[in-house]
Amino acid sequence: MMRRPIPNLRARQTWICTQCRAGYSSVAAPGSKLRMGNHNRKTNLPDGPARTRFAPSPTGYLHLGSLRTALFNYLLAKRTGGQFLLRIEDTDQKRTIPGAEQRLYDDLRWAGLQWDEGPIVGGPYGPYRQSERTETYRKHTHELIDNGHAYRCFCSAERLDAHARHRSEAGLAPGYDRRCAEISAAESAERAHKGEAHVVRLKVEGYPMFYDIVYGKTGQNRPNTKLDLIERVYDDPILLKSDGHPTYHLANVVDDHLMEITHVIRGTEWMASTPLHVALYNAFKWTPPQFGHVPLLVDKSGQKLSKRNADIDLTFFKDTQSIFAATLVNFAALLGWSHTQKSDVFNLEELEQLFNLKITRGNTVVAFEKLWFLQKAHAQRFASAPESPELQDMVHKLTTTVEATYSKEQLAQILNTRTLPSYITPLLQADAKSYTTPEDFLSRNQTFFQTAATLTRPAYTPASSPPSSPSATNPPTTTAAVPLSSLHTAATALTLVPPSHWTLDTHRANIAAYDGASAVLESPSASASAGGRPLEQEGQQSPAELEAARKAADKLFKKELYHYLRWALSGGAPGPGIPETMVILGREQTVRRLQDAKALTLEMVPNRGVKRYKGPQESAAAAEKSKDISWMGSLAPKRA
Ligand code: GLU
Repeated sequence: MMRRPIPNLRARQTWICTQCRAGYSSVAAPGSKLRMGNHNRKTNLPDGPARTRFAPSPTGYLHLGSLRTALFNYLLAKRTGGQFLLRIEDTDQKRTIPGAEQRLYDDLRWAGLQWDEGPIVGGPYGPYRQSERTETYRKHTHELIDNGHAYRCFCSAERLDAHARHRSEAGLAPGYDRRCAEISAAESAERAHKGEAHVVRLKVEGYPMFYDIVYGKTGQNRPNTKLDLIERVYDDPILLKSDGHPTYHLANVVDDHLMEITHVIRGTEWMASTPLHVALYNAFKWTPPQFGHVPLLVDKSGQKLSKRNADIDLTFFKDTQSIFAATLVNFAALLGWSHTQKSDVFNLEELEQLFNLKITRGNTVVAFEKLWFLQKAHAQRFASAPESPELQDMVHKLTTTVEATYSKEQLAQILNTRTLPSYITPLLQADAKSYTTPEDFLSRNQTFFQTAATLTRPAYTPASSPPSSPSATNPPTTTAAVPLSSLHTAATALTLVPPSHWTLDTHRANIAAYDGASAVLESPSASASAGGRPLEQEGQQSPAELEAARKAADKLFKKELYHYLRWALSGGAPGPGIPETMVILGREQTVRRLQDAKALTLEMVPNRGVKRYKGPQESAAAAEKSKDISWMGSLAPKRA
């Protein structure tokens, strides 16, 4: 192999743009301190509007990592009053997936990341699809050839392969010997003119350091030459391929410059390419944008997120998991961005106001528990805005799920004259705090769709037990601290509300006003568990003690009542509160369920029909109680 003469690199001067010399830019100038230009130290935000871009290749779909990149660029533009561009980097036509471009548009719009300039919407710097800009890249490549920063390389694939093999066998790093850089401009133009196959390489002087918004001073200021045992080699990247199409590096840099991009926020996987991009900016005598590389997403074991561990395309979150756009955007925003707000729950508009470039270095662990926490938080927000389109969407999805699960006949029995969406809406509003997916929500609240006949309840077990050793004089009258019979009475009383008053407020007021204390204090065992004394001993208590005992008794009773009603109305399943459940089920279903529950527990009421002896005091209390209409709560007629 013929040795090529070694060019005298020292004689060449690295070109540095004016702004870099002033220490303004992200690029190193000799002797100047490498720093970020005109950014707020606390927020890392630029002083002026940022023009950012998301530049996906249609070789795949949007996934969690790329959504985050798009989002950060979008938010930076919005926060600073700038513009967010979408550019399709489809230089690698062979790897382009049919339909991927349309999916990117759909997914970005689903997430709410509408671009200000780009395909479909157009803009003054278009076209925004790189496959339509080939001439621009060629023109700029020729400029570089003309000013000596690039050269045509006519080396055949065979020669390059042989060279690479030779170096590899010698245990040397890859490199190009720059053979074609020595070809004269005239010969090069002539050979190209004659149609000889060639690529165009950038004649890199050196790979400079740059200032990264996230990582600070980055790179090695690497000279682009290596003299080893065999020869001097260079790392001169290809700009224009033999088919005349640009490589990613060329198209990316040319477009970022021509589209006047001020900030490039992208994944750390591109960090290694940035010195080359900066070298290219230098060759063109252009000022590079500010770069900010966002950390890699990893799973809990530190593995890079991949298709296998959920860095899957958005469809999975959107369609399979039924995640709201707001949830996913919120989740993506928190992947590496830190804020000082008390809550982590933000919608897109809030993020637009809050976002800054305080991005953490180092890998970002993706914890999917957070996704479900945020989903519940956003469900609550949507549900509390009755007219929100998102609530309507939740209702629609849940309606579809319910219809796919239960027969029309079964649903008709529950609904009566109501429509399914009008039945589902208050249910969603009442239990939005637990909403994750329509399927999970239905499974949690399935009892709302069962008829009185199909509703199954486990055997009733009281919430509170009686004291462990009841005295011989006070044998327990029930297995529960609160007599079941009193729960039956209370449950019936709560249904004695006319349909016109069957509302949340009425039920809440009636439950609150119900005199649970008497029911407990009349039962010796229950009274003891409430910390009071049986009625026979009441006379020995001070008024304050009496009041405290009544309060404790009422508390005990209400706890048991709620427990009993939940069991009676929904088989004990967690879900909306009791008043809400009564309203959603409606009067008829509520009454039926309470009647069934009573029938099921009647056997548990001891001494049914056997009247216990009431002492004189107790009888007076009971007589007074019979006049008591406190259970009617707000419906009770005002006493004179
Ligand atoms: N087309 C590149 C990608 O798909 C863009 C990288 C960049 O943002 O510069 O990730």
